[in-house]
Amino acid sequence: MNAEIIAVGSELLLGQIANTNGQHLSKELAALGISIFRHTVIGDNTERLREAMAEAEKRADLVVLTGGLGPTEDDLTKDVAAEHTGRRLLEHSPSMQKLTAFFEERGMVLTEANKRQALYLEDSVVLKNHNGLACGSAFTQNDTHYMLLPGPPHEMKMMFEKEGKPYLLQNRQENKVIESKIFRFTEIGESTLEEKLKDIIGFQSNPTIAPLASEGEVIIRVTAGASTVEEADVLIAETEKQILERAGEYCYAVGEKPLIELTLDRLRQAGKTIAAAESLTGGWFAKKAIDIEGASDVFAGGAVTYSADAKQKLLGVKAETIASYGTVSRECAEEMALHVKEYMQADVGISFTGVAGPDALEGHPPGTVWIGLAVDGMVQAFPLQLKGSRKLIRHSAVFHGYRLLWKEKVISNDVF
Ligand code: ATP
Repeated sequence: MNAEIIAVGSELLLGQIANTNGQHLSKELAALGISIFRHTVIGDNTERLREAMAEAEKRADLVVLTGGLGPTEDDLTKDVAAEHTGRRLLEHSPSMQKLTAFFEERGMVLTEANKRQALYLEDSVVLKNHNGLACGSAFTQNDTHYMLLPGPPHEMKMMFEKEGKPYLLQNRQENKVIESKIFRFTEIGESTLEEKLKDIIGFQSNPTIAPLASEGEVIIRVTAGASTVEEADVLIAETEKQILERAGEYCYAVGEKPLIELTLDRLRQAGKTIAAAESLTGGWFAKKAIDIEGASDVFAGGAVTYSADAKQKLLGVKAETIASYGTVSRECAEEMALHVKEYMQADVGISFTGVAGPDALEGHPPGTVWIGLAVDGMVQAFPLQLKGSRKLIRHSAVFHGYRLLWKEKVISNDVF
């Protein structure tokens, strides 16, 4: 199955908002093994929307429209779709009851314009709006599946998840079951990984192999369609073997959980806590840990010690260390890691010190970073030479820190 997405809304064309619905749907459809061939953005204009639908249906098995289901004059997606497909617009009673109750509860008058939100296309499956009032529709017209979804992203996402996906799985000709497996890679860039997998990515349509660069890692999502889960799993296993043969050394985990969450899980399983002393990363390491629910049993806390003075006053880095080696040094990183660990009475201390740029510091070019790790009685610092903008250098330093921790030896006492 191949699909096109038509996003409707003049604010998209005016650049007031980005087409995040298109992005989300592309990812979701790709995960179902549906290939996306085109994105179209159309303003609130009847004629151009009609043209866009007519063109898309010539090429695509599935046309997904988002936006324009609301009550205002410029919400014309349902009207155009009804006219284009020769279907009437009918009232969907449960949606109308929901609308009526919504307006009654608020003491507001339900206008004719508002009632339009409860209309659906004749002979279509109504897609309920779990987060709003305008219902969607899904139907097949001359072998093309159509899906009409609302514009507000939280409504669209929920409608697609709860109503759209099941509709697609039921209505596709073959491959009623879709299974996905995620492979997570670090220390390899997206393009290098793609190059290694080029032949299998290019020549395979089931399973599909979708690479995606994410924060500090590259993800490969393998999705197979089959009539049973077992069949899909066999297809995935064959592709998995090929992927791991080519790039297995970079694959650090398999599954939905990203690096930071896995690292915290591993610390938790080892019964260890961690504290961080951060200079150039400015608390980003701590933020990424605390973003994860339940981090408090693993992440003890830490200090942002940006100036040389703060490193001495808050962490007790020796004045001689800074005078002799500077703040961008192995010695400083090691002291920071050791002291924050002791101060917080944590099992692991991690530190970040370096040059985020754009200017050099203490004679070191931007991107020079030291990560210190203190575990039990051992302390060691690791040098990095990172590239990119100030922001990128700071963020990559944090991900390198998590990668270092992920390496089993660091967490399981068998350090360095
Ligand atoms: P409403 O009932 O709010 O009018 P609707 O289905 O008619 O919903 P639109 O009026 O087209 O949808 O869009 C409503 C809002 O949803 C927009 O102002 C915008 O904030 C957001 N939105 C619409 N389309 C997109 C899109 N493709 N990507 C991201 N956000 C979008």
